[in-house]
Amino acid sequence: MASNKLARLVSRPVGMVKHDDFEIVEEPVREPGPGEFRVKVSHASIDPAMRGWLRDQRSYMPPVGIGEVMRAGAVGIVEASNNDAFKPGDMAVGQFGIQQYAISDGRGCYTVDPSKAPPERWIGGLGMPGMTAYFGLLEIGQPKEGETVVVSAASGAVGSIVGQLAKLRGARAVGIAGGPEKCAYVVDELGFDACVDYKAGNLYKDLRAACPNGIDVNFENVGGDIMNTILAQMNPFGRMPLCGLISQYNNTDLAPGPANFGSILVNRLNVRGFIVFDFARKYPEAARDLGQWHAEGKLKMREDVREGGVDAFVDTLNLLYSGGNFGKLVLKI
Ligand code: NDP
Repeated sequence: MASNKLARLVSRPVGMVKHDDFEIVEEPVREPGPGEFRVKVSHASIDPAMRGWLRDQRSYMPPVGIGEVMRAGAVGIVEASNNDAFKPGDMAVGQFGIQQYAISDGRGCYTVDPSKAPPERWIGGLGMPGMTAYFGLLEIGQPKEGETVVVSAASGAVGSIVGQLAKLRGARAVGIAGGPEKCAYVVDELGFDACVDYKAGNLYKDLRAACPNGIDVNFENVGGDIMNTILAQMNPFGRMPLCGLISQYNNTDLAPGPANFGSILVNRLNVRGFIVFDFARKYPEAARDLGQWHAEGKLKMREDVREGGVDAFVDTLNLLYSGGNFGKLVLKI
């Protein structure tokens, strides 16, 4: 019987996650019990939220416990099963964790069609990040034809889909991303109308030029100075799906509040934080639409698949917080 290599949390990180916050161990693989199946994990989704899951504080789900396998969405092939919904050979998606083999009772898991997309895409644009863009933009942002939608972290897993959905709704899509290469990709490949490189140092002016009619929807992924600058350019009755604040996830102190909080008042903005799980009931609708647009070539998706397996988890995760990834970050297990 093969052994299972896994990443187990041994201490709560302070600031950036470090190698010695995890131990990499090998354990025997067990047979699935009644109602369970075993999956051989091929790819794990590396997500900004993982940093939050390591904090011992009240959140939308309990933190990963000390001694537990690191939580992660993942995809793999069912090897053995006592669960009728998951047959050997099926490709399955679920919270299988950072490990080579997982045993699951099927809760929160589903099978996908490997003929329609490669495994990594089912945990990217056709999975949780795609759903996040779909519900955050269409249900909360509600872009109308001719309006201007701005999204930060625009070349990434969520942001890349947000801008393309905004275009499908007839809106002007403006991205914000770090560096000329990412900005060129966002405009030339993804079809956004413009993309502002915040690292060039003229964000206020460059954003103003890219959004001559102001901003109606801000899909917020980053927070901090970028969010403050966007807030200063919002139009009356604008909407702001608050999806993420990645610039703050490794902070050790409380982050300062928005510098332009008054914009929410004078512009009567609708700011709404959300977690993709809030929309779980409607996942089938999103899966249908995203799958169809992807098949029709209307939604482009890019994954950044890293090698190195379980051992490479910490280094791969930290890429997210420095912009070292280009596309949906995935760890090949
Ligand atoms: P991405 O693929 O976009 O990768 C993260 C990117 O964030 C980096 O590549 C980098 O892009 C940018 N970034 C990182 N640090 C900073 C910083 N200090 N300042 C500016 N930009 C920074 O990740 P995802 O698409 O997976 O996630 C994007 C956001 O969506 C995150 O905030 C995440 O937490 C959130 N999210 C929320 C969900 C929800 O349910 N609410 C679900 C999924 C994701 P660049 O090089 O362009 O700076």
